[in-house]
Amino acid sequence: MMNKDKYHNYSPEPLWPGIINNEEPPLIIAGPCSAETREQLLSTARELHGHGVKILRAGIWKPRTYPGDFEGVGEDALSWLIEAKMETGMLVGTEVGTAAHTEKALGAGLDFLWIGARTTASPFAIQEIAEVLGGSSVPVLVKNPLNPSIDFWKGAVYRLLEAGVKRIGLIHRGFDIGVPKDLRNTPLWSVVAEMRRDLPHLSIYLDPSHIAGRRDYLGKLIQVAYLLKYDGIMIESHLNPDKAWSDRNQQITPSELAETISNLPMVSEQQLYLLRDELRGVDERLLLLLSIRRKLSGEIGGVKRAYGLTAYQETQYLSKLKEITSAAKLYDLPEELLRHLYAIIHDDSVFLQK
Ligand code: PEP
Ligand code: MN
Repeated sequence: MMNKDKYHNYSPEPLWPGIINNEEPPLIIAGPCSAETREQLLSTARELHGHGVKILRAGIWKPRTYPGDFEGVGEDALSWLIEAKMETGMLVGTEVGTAAHTEKALGAGLDFLWIGARTTASPFAIQEIAEVLGGSSVPVLVKNPLNPSIDFWKGAVYRLLEAGVKRIGLIHRGFDIGVPKDLRNTPLWSVVAEMRRDLPHLSIYLDPSHIAGRRDYLGKLIQVAYLLKYDGIMIESHLNPDKAWSDRNQQITPSELAETISNLPMVSEQQLYLLRDELRGVDERLLLLLSIRRKLSGEIGGVKRAYGLTAYQETQYLSKLKEITSAAKLYDLPEELLRHLYAIIHDDSVFLQK
């Protein structure tokens, strides 16, 4: 079995050598969710470049959840990206999800690639991509997987490193934690902090677009990224977001992007956003646990009925209450709070089991 700390001290080659000063944060990677037409891509590149953006992203193979949605224009757009590069001097890149995508993207001469959240959690796909990349020095940015754990993420990075990929970076694009939420994906700063602790020398970028899923929250997320000393952002920008072929609710125009960056809120507000965001993530996990607990309690109710037992069992309640309140010190929680909380949760359980 592999030593999971093997790459702790691994220091990759600079991601954007010569062209972009890695010391000059924050780096902005921007571009449309999807390349749609040659004209759209070239005009977007020109505008973004005019606002000082040096790296252009555009999805050309889109991993859609349902069949029948727009799946990207495919390899035709490779030459549009190269044209944008020739005209503006920007670095250009796209998402790859298969070995064939990777071969085509490298063959066309793209400057960087990224691996999407759905692919990161797929070891077969990652392995095949890694083998095509081999000792390549093209930067590969690996997005976090959808599920809120770092293992698939670390595993994907390790597969690329083992294959000899020399330039690797990370992208935090939020997680799917399975409860209703007002953001499209939940940023889990503390989960990402573990990844940063274990691979401290890799650059990390925030993707506020896929976290927020809406425009009004982008600035706040970017602010948090800067506060947490991320190396930059990857953000979706479209000339006419309402007409975009994918992810239209979260894209902003190049000039809105420039404005968002220059209007970032003041420091005290940033701290509040950061803390509230973290709290939101914690609350969502509490809700998820509560929902799991209720389902389990319903199952216990079924077993009790099968054995002719009553839903409420006093000795069980009292011993559980004792167990929980005596853990108060361990978790640094007021005993009285636990007593109240447990009484409410237990009453609900009894009600459910009846
Ligand atoms: C994208 O960047 O357009 C994309 C599909 O992102 P993710 O893999 O984060 O969903
Ligand atoms: Mn998108």
